Amino acid sequence: MKYCSTRDGAVRATAAEAIARGISPDGGLYVPTALPRLTPARIEELASMPYAARAAAVLGEFLGDFTADEVRECTDAAYATGRFRHQDVAPLTELSEGEHILELWHGPTCAFKDMALQILPHLMRVSAAKTGDGKEIVILVATSGDTGKAALEGFRDAKGTRILVFYPEDGVSPMQKLQMATQEGENVAVCAIRGNFDDAQTGVKQIFTDAAIGETLAANGMQFSSANSINWGRLAPQIVYYVSAYCDLLKAGTIRMGDPVNVAVPTGNFGNILAAYYAREMGLPINKLICASNRNRVLTDFLTTGVYDRNRAFYTTTSPSMDILISSNLERLLYHLSGNDDAVIRTLMTQLNEQGRYTVPDDLLARVRDLFWAGCCDDEAAAATIREKFDAHHYLLDTHTAVAVKVYGDYRRETGDTTPTVIASTANPYKFSASVLEALNGDTAGLDEFQKVEALHALTAHEVPAPLADLKGKAVRFKDVCDRDKAAMRAVVFGMLNVAE
Ligand SMILES: *Cc1c(COP(=O)(O)O)cnc(C)c1O
Repeated sequence: MKYCSTRDGAVRATAAEAIARGISPDGGLYVPTALPRLTPARIEELASMPYAARAAAVLGEFLGDFTADEVRECTDAAYATGRFRHQDVAPLTELSEGEHILELWHGPTCAFKDMALQILPHLMRVSAAKTGDGKEIVILVATSGDTGKAALEGFRDAKGTRILVFYPEDGVSPMQKLQMATQEGENVAVCAIRGNFDDAQTGVKQIFTDAAIGETLAANGMQFSSANSINWGRLAPQIVYYVSAYCDLLKAGTIRMGDPVNVAVPTGNFGNILAAYYAREMGLPINKLICASNRNRVLTDFLTTGVYDRNRAFYTTTSPSMDILISSNLERLLYHLSGNDDAVIRTLMTQLNEQGRYTVPDDLLARVRDLFWAGCCDDEAAAATIREKFDAHHYLLDTHTAVAVKVYGDYRRETGDTTPTVIASTANPYKFSASVLEALNGDTAGLDEFQKVEALHALTAHEVPAPLADLKGKAVRFKDVCDRDKAAMRAVVFGMLNVAE
């Protein structure tokens, strides 16, 4: 199993190299040159295994230069040691006939990012040992809220690594901010930026691909890597839970082997839904991929018209982890659907960089539309969905999952398709207590974040996850804010690393 770059098909990297580097030196993203096949017999086998073993089987296919023992060590450390608060790791709940919620938030930070970020440090440790120059790995993260905390928690005190997280000062929920600001660990740092997520992501990418900064690091025995979903080591573990969900539906007798399912995903950077696309390409019987956006509907527009245009107003919404106008992982999809045409990708990405927009050719759009259905909803519709599902089923959705549930309902009404559908539930509702409480018409006036959690608990009797309850009383360690330009962010990076500019 080898990897090439979306911007240079001639590049070849092993899994370990792709994971240790994070991004290809040409600025492209690593993609597998061929995908492993999941046969029906293999899926049946996986159905009788626990999550960690399913993960080892699926990930093993992608980690060509890892031994079976190394793979198993990584998957066990992440998924079989009680780090997740549910024994199934990613359990399914049927909300109504054919509407299955895949709960991806039972990990230590209560968002789906844990699914990949609990294993990534282990994959990176093994990868760094193989690629072998013994350099300390410096993880730079741009976060819209959940990745930052999950990466900090995953990498804290991991040997041979340091981690620095940038988040938009006013673009995350109070709970997300508190989770990051109170992070423990000797090798961690957090800094807010005066800008939005796209500014943070652009700055991190520029620092990452700046040759002079890279040389300074190398001279100090360090190298950058990425824990964002541009890193293949983030994406591959996300393929596992779609396979696992299919296995669980089989096991429950809800479907028979070969029956199709749809997948609906609340989307931001396009990583989570891209993992479902890979699962489909590997042979998992997935029918439609339903892409759900909030008011920042750049993907809805792209997937219906073929025009990607980031020149538009940016809205902060009640689903902040989806407030994104540059969905990085779309580049991987376009590479595959253009028939692995790196020249097309170079052209499109240059246009995105210079004009903020591109239009894909009609045949490429047709292939996209064949696979994906896209919809969006605003904060009011998401809130109404939270209320409706709580009233009908006593099930509590977070604001991001609510967007997907709403859009899935629109899909079902519009198409009449009643294929069983797996809806990715990406966060525990208590991460966004204020918005969820307001959706249920609860009074939030004058309450601090923890009082809102308590009020939501009083109203719903749903369990408050321990990692969120435990934040109360933790000391705030990180208060720094910097400007959104590259120079300011570079200064923060060098400051944290104690390296002279
Ligand atoms: C990150 C995140 C998303 C978006 O996922 P992408 O992989 O970026 O598309 C959705 N919901 C929550 C809660 C998230 O943390």
